Amino acid sequence: MLSFRRDGDLARLDEVLPAVRGQGMNPGMTIEAAVRAVPQGGAARPLKALAERILIIGLDGATFDVLDPLIQAGRMPALGEFLRDGVCGVLHSTKPPITPAAWTTFMTGKGPGRHGIIDFEKYHVATHELTFNSTYEIREKTLWEHLSDKGLKVGSVHVPMTYPPRPVNGFMISGFETPSIDADFTYPPELKREILRRIPDYNYRTNWRRRLLGGLAMLRENLAYIQRSFEQGVELVKLCGEMYGWDVLMIVYKLVDNLQHKTWKYLDPRFNRRYPRQAQMAAECFMRLDENLAKLFEYARRHRATVLIMSDHGHGSLDGKAQPNLLLHAWGYLALRSPLDRASQRAGHWLHRLNKGKASRFEQGSRGIERDLAVDWSRTRACVMHAGIYGFLYLNVRGRGPNGVVDPQDYHALRDEIAERLRGVTATDPAGKEFRVFPEVYKTDELYGCSRADYPDLPDLLLAPRPGLAVIRKIRGRSPVRWCPPGRLEGTHRAEGVLALGGPNVRRGLRIEADIVDIAPTTLAALGLRVPVDMEGRVLGQAFTVAPTVEREPPVKKVAEERAEVYTEDERRLLEKRLSELGYLE
Ligand SMILES: [Zn+2]
Repeated sequence: MLSFRRDGDLARLDEVLPAVRGQGMNPGMTIEAAVRAVPQGGAARPLKALAERILIIGLDGATFDVLDPLIQAGRMPALGEFLRDGVCGVLHSTKPPITPAAWTTFMTGKGPGRHGIIDFEKYHVATHELTFNSTYEIREKTLWEHLSDKGLKVGSVHVPMTYPPRPVNGFMISGFETPSIDADFTYPPELKREILRRIPDYNYRTNWRRRLLGGLAMLRENLAYIQRSFEQGVELVKLCGEMYGWDVLMIVYKLVDNLQHKTWKYLDPRFNRRYPRQAQMAAECFMRLDENLAKLFEYARRHRATVLIMSDHGHGSLDGKAQPNLLLHAWGYLALRSPLDRASQRAGHWLHRLNKGKASRFEQGSRGIERDLAVDWSRTRACVMHAGIYGFLYLNVRGRGPNGVVDPQDYHALRDEIAERLRGVTATDPAGKEFRVFPEVYKTDELYGCSRADYPDLPDLLLAPRPGLAVIRKIRGRSPVRWCPPGRLEGTHRAEGVLALGGPNVRRGLRIEADIVDIAPTTLAALGLRVPVDMEGRVLGQAFTVAPTVEREPPVKKVAEERAEVYTEDERRLLEKRLSELGYLE
C-alpha cells in the first residue's frame, strides 16, 4: 500500500510514477535502476529547447465558467485571441483544490503527500497545535531551485507559498501570505527598497472593505483596489525583469480568486441579472485584467518568450458548508466539554492575560482547535482539525499526542468505519434533491502514495465534499450542511481550473486537458532541461509543434531546514483576518 519511500526502498517505478510511462523509462524499473539509467549532470540546456524563455501568468482560481462568457461578449479580447491562437483547456487542481496545496504542487511537480502542504494551516499531532505553513514547510525542491541550480535566471512575483522568499538565481517577491511590507518580502533583500521607492502604494492588504450601507461606492472602492493590483503586477514584471534578466518569469494574480469569492453572485449567470450594475462593475474588473494581460503578452513577444497561463483551481458558487464534526459528535467519536467547563477555561484565559499581558498561545488554547471547538480529548477518538474546502480528519491515537485514546491496534478498523459512515451521509439540497455530502473520503496514504510514518502530521482521512460545499471545523446549528442564502451567495473553489499556452513553437487551436502537476516537468522539458525522475507529472508534449525531448535525471533531494513558525503573534492575526475573509479557518 505504501508505494514510495524515500531511502533505498525498491518501489516499482510504475506504481509510483505512472506518468513516466512512454517517456523513456521502463515501467518495471525500480527508482534506483531508473536513476542509474539516466545520464548524469550536463550543461545548462542539454536538450533541444522549444522555448527560449517562458513567462508564466498565474490567475488564482480562474475558471472558464467566468472567462468564456466575458470573452464571447468581447470583453476580454486579448485573452480571447490568445486562447484561439494557442493551446488551452481545463487544468485539474490538487486534492484538495486549495491555493497553498495547488501552487506548491505546481512549484515542485509533486503531490501534497510529497511536498507536505495540504492547507494554509499545519496541524501538529504531537501538540494539537495549528501553525501557518511557509516556505520552510515545503519538503521538496521547487522549480525555482531546480532552474537556479541549472544556471537559469528566474523571477517569481506573488506566487502563493513563497514567503519568506528563498534564495534563487534571480529574484523573488513573496505572495499574499506575506504579513505586510514591514516583512522581508524579497530576494535579494535590497529589492524591497527599490520596489517601495518605485511603487509607493505597494502593499499586501487584501481586505475586502465593508461598511454598513457602503453600497455601490464601497464595491467600486474594493474593485478599484483589485484593478490596481493588476497594474502593479505588470509594473513589477517589467521593473524586476529588466533589472535581473530572466529565463523563466512568473506573476500570479491572487486577487482574481478574492474577486470571485466576494462577487460570485455578480459573475454567476444564474443570479447576476438581478444585479445589473454590480455585474457590470465586476465584469469591468476582468476587462482591466485583460488590458494588463495584453501588456504582458506584448512584453513576452519582445523577449521571444512562450507564455503559459494557468490557475491553481477553478471557482464556482459556495452553496453551503459541510460540518463533519457535527456528525462525529452525534455518532460519539468526538466529545465536547461542558459549557461550565468552557466558561472556566475562558476565565482562566483572561486571568492568564491579565497576569502575563499576553496569552502564551496553545497552553490557553488560542492556537489549537480549542479556539473553535471545545474538544474533550480524553473522550475523543476522531476530529476534523482543520479544513480548506476538504476536511482534514485525525484519529486521536494513543502515543501520538497528548491524551490519545485510540489503541493503535484499532487504528485501521476505526478509520475504515468512520470513512464508511461519512461516505453514507446524505442531505437534501434546497431544490429537494438528496445527495451524498462526502462523495469521496480518502485515506491520505492511499491517495498520495506516501507514508504517514514519513510525515506523521498528515491527516488520517481527507473528506471531499460535493462540489459547491466547503467543509468547516466549527459546529453551528444541528444540520450537517448549512446552506448559504442566495442573497448572500459567495464563491468557492472547484477542481477544474484553466490552462493556456501561446507563442513560439506552440500549436494553434489545440484543446487539451492536463493536471497541475504536469506544469513543472513541461516547463523543464520545453526549456531543454532534463526532468527529475521523481516528478509526478507528465510533459505536455502535444502542446508543441515538435514534441520536446523528454529525458529524466536523478532526483535531487532537498536538505530540509528545521524552523519554527515564521509568523509573529501580530503577523498571525493579520493572516487569520485575511484568510477568514475568504471563508477559511472556520
Ligand atoms: Zn487559489
